[in-house]
Amino acid sequence: MEIIKVSPRGYCRGVIQAIQIAKQTIQDYPDIPVYMLGMIVHNQYIVQEFKKAGVICLEDNHCSRLELLDQIDHGVVIFTAHGVSDAVYKKAEDKGLIIVDATCRDVKTTHDIVREHCKSHDVIYIGKHNHPEAEGVVGLSNRVYLVSSLEEASSLPALDHPLITCQTTLSMMDTEKLIRHCLSLYPDAILMNEICNATTIRQKAVLELKNVDVLIVVGDPHSNNSNQLKKCGVDAGIPRSYLIEHALELKPEMLKKTDRIAVTSGSSTPSVLTEQVISVLNQYAETGQFILPDALPSSMF
Ligand code: SF4
Repeated sequence: MEIIKVSPRGYCRGVIQAIQIAKQTIQDYPDIPVYMLGMIVHNQYIVQEFKKAGVICLEDNHCSRLELLDQIDHGVVIFTAHGVSDAVYKKAEDKGLIIVDATCRDVKTTHDIVREHCKSHDVIYIGKHNHPEAEGVVGLSNRVYLVSSLEEASSLPALDHPLITCQTTLSMMDTEKLIRHCLSLYPDAILMNEICNATTIRQKAVLELKNVDVLIVVGDPHSNNSNQLKKCGVDAGIPRSYLIEHALELKPEMLKKTDRIAVTSGSSTPSVLTEQVISVLNQYAETGQFILPDALPSSMF
């Protein structure tokens, strides 16, 4: 069995930066509570590391970032890589919190573009409902219309010279279809495709795979870019594509009748988790023995 380590894979610069900022914050403020407004990046093992280090991580799928802020009275609040709306920023300031902003530069760029266009016109934002990045952009203005499907695009009201833009971690192929549909509905629209470079090059690397029987994506089920990599495997015609969180989720039946297996990982997946998966596969390829590790790596950093 041949193992193809897809490149690039794993951490993007936005995730590396967010983790560094959060680590530095713990050192800078040892004597006051440090809160994280949501998952710093979409990987539960990274979040657990920060919890072990004393950070209070506020997570509730049913609460907006604005609502989560109600749980903080004093101390430091870290905004995650996905960004927040201006209203969240202002509420944190009004509460007198120390703000540490770990928003990715690429997300900030989208915010700037949307803010500017909303001064005079409408914005169609292609993104996922209930995703923090989409929440942050939609919260910038009531002129932003979130669209996640062709049907939703078709039921938009008449819009004034809209800008069409999107979430940074979407599927390139699906977004292209939605963009074409929106352009057919609003021929005078301006297009700014904001799928980030890290997402694009990771998806392209999967879409270009040839003669592969199995794709393993290592990533958290909450991670949109990890889910999209699995979908790229399906779009590339790979017969079997799996998203697993770590090596302990590998199963012998995943590897049956497999000559070539490709491994990639989401941009928020710690490399130690991916390396452990590759190590199990290497051993299987060399000895035919399927042996799982006793435990996950002791540290994700
Ligand atoms: S996936 Fe793209 S937008 Fe998201 S944190 Fe990484 S570089 Fe930034």
